[in-house]
Amino acid sequence: MKEDLQRLMSLQEVDGRLEELADRKKRIPELVAAAQRPLHAAQALHEVTKKDLDTSTKQRKAVEDELAVQEQAISKLQDRAIKGAIKTNKEFQAHKFEIDLAKKKKGEIEEQLLMLMDQVDVKKKELAQADAAMKEAERKFAVEKTSLEGSVGAIEQELVEQTQRRKDMAAAVEKSLLRTYEKLRVSRKGQALAGVTKEGSCMACRLQIQPQVVSDVKRGMSVLTCIYCQRILYWAGEPYHGTAASELEKETAEKSD
Ligand SMILES: [Zn+2]
Repeated sequence: MKEDLQRLMSLQEVDGRLEELADRKKRIPELVAAAQRPLHAAQALHEVTKKDLDTSTKQRKAVEDELAVQEQAISKLQDRAIKGAIKTNKEFQAHKFEIDLAKKKKGEIEEQLLMLMDQVDVKKKELAQADAAMKEAERKFAVEKTSLEGSVGAIEQELVEQTQRRKDMAAAVEKSLLRTYEKLRVSRKGQALAGVTKEGSCMACRLQIQPQVVSDVKRGMSVLTCIYCQRILYWAGEPYHGTAASELEKETAEKSD
């Protein structure tokens, strides 16, 4: 009986590990998606910054064109004076006023152009930063993705190994006891077994177990269950607790020698 109980404890341990592995494997795509989020954010920022720079560059080009047009208009006005089209003082005053006005407008356009040139410089710097951040995010994501996807292989391999181990272990457990274990495993969320503490309480439901049952569990001569939660009981006071599984493995290894 002691051996059967130890086998069940090892089985519960392996079952727990199998569940954990399956859960980890299931979560990999979720983790990959989470790792990709910073990259998506960096790409979006890059996109927006690039659009901003395009807009500023277009605005600068438009103002440059406007300036060229204005310069042409001024030189046309000046040509009129050179070509002697201005004869009277009144005409000269009107001409001068027109040129002053055109130059004033040119000055305004130049100011606007300077502002836009600054803006383009700033946006270029921002784009360079966004570009570097995006490349860094790409690099980080590639590393994380490789690592996560690489871990799938390791998880799958361990799943195969532990599944085989479980099969071998289950085969060694007495049939009706294994059935009880399997039923409890389903109804008790993977915890078919419960330890009995030094103080005599069930570690799963925390209720106090009858002293006779406690002493029987301690001796380990028969398979007993908790009358409250129905779990199969094992002695967890001392010295088995936590070592039963490895003891069985040693035992199994010795047997197979
Ligand atoms: Zn219990």
